[in-house]
Amino acid sequence: MANNLIRLWDTDPDSKPRERTRFADDIVGRFRSGRLVGKMPEALNEWRVTTGDPEVADKIAALMGGSAAEWETDKEDNLEILTDAPSVRIVIDSSADIDASMKKFGFQGLEHHCDGVQILSPEEEKGDLCGCPESLQDRKDRARSGKGPKPSIDVTFRLAADPELGKFRFNSGSWSLVNVLHDVFAAVDAYDGRPVLASLTIEHVAYTTKTGRDVAFNMPVIKVLGAAEAAQPADLPMAA
Ligand SMILES: [Zn+2]
Repeated sequence: MANNLIRLWDTDPDSKPRERTRFADDIVGRFRSGRLVGKMPEALNEWRVTTGDPEVADKIAALMGGSAAEWETDKEDNLEILTDAPSVRIVIDSSADIDASMKKFGFQGLEHHCDGVQILSPEEEKGDLCGCPESLQDRKDRARSGKGPKPSIDVTFRLAADPELGKFRFNSGSWSLVNVLHDVFAAVDAYDGRPVLASLTIEHVAYTTKTGRDVAFNMPVIKVLGAAEAAQPADLPMAA
C-alpha cells in the first residue's frame, strides 16, 4: 500500500513531522537534582529527568515512577518526569565519561574555564596559570560572589535497567561531589576501562554543628558497585 499522504507535506514542508531516529550513543535525557519554581531554585529529593523524546519519557516513568509533563524551556528536552526514585543504577563506560572542571559563565558565555590551577580553554591560553585562589574556602567564596568559577561535573551514563535506551547526562556544581571525585575516578579506573555498575543517588545530609546550627542539604553521590557485565538485570532494582 502506497503512502499517498506523504504528499501532504509537499505544499507545507515546515509542518512535516520530524523523523526521530534514536541511536544508543545519543544523549537522550538529563538527570537533574533541582528545578526552578518561579525564579527560585528548588533542590529535589528524587531525580527529575528531562528529555525531548516521548518514548524515553514513558520508559523513565515506568522505571522510576512519576509521569511525563511539559515544562517551559527553550531547549530540546521539553518533557520532564518528577520521578519517585532518589537513586538509580547506572552504567558508566569509563572515567572518560566523567568530566570535571571549573567554569564561570557571564554575558559572553564561558569566561573562566580551568582545572583550579591552569586554564583549560580557550586553546591559546591553555596551560597558563588561571589565578584562582589556593584554598577551598576562598574558591567557594569567590564563586559565591560571582567572581570565580564553580565546579562543573558532567557524568554520562546508561541506565542499568535499560542500557539500549541511550545515554543520559548529569551535570552538577556540587562542592561536596568535588571533594570525593578523586575517589570516584579511582573506583571507575580500578576496572581498567571496562564499564562499571554504579548508583547515582540524591543523598540528604542533615546535622547540627558544634555551635548548634542546623545544616541540611542534598548532594549527589556516585557509588561504584562493580563491573557492569557481571550484573544481571534481575539484580538491578531501581531504587536504593
Ligand atoms: Zn581558575
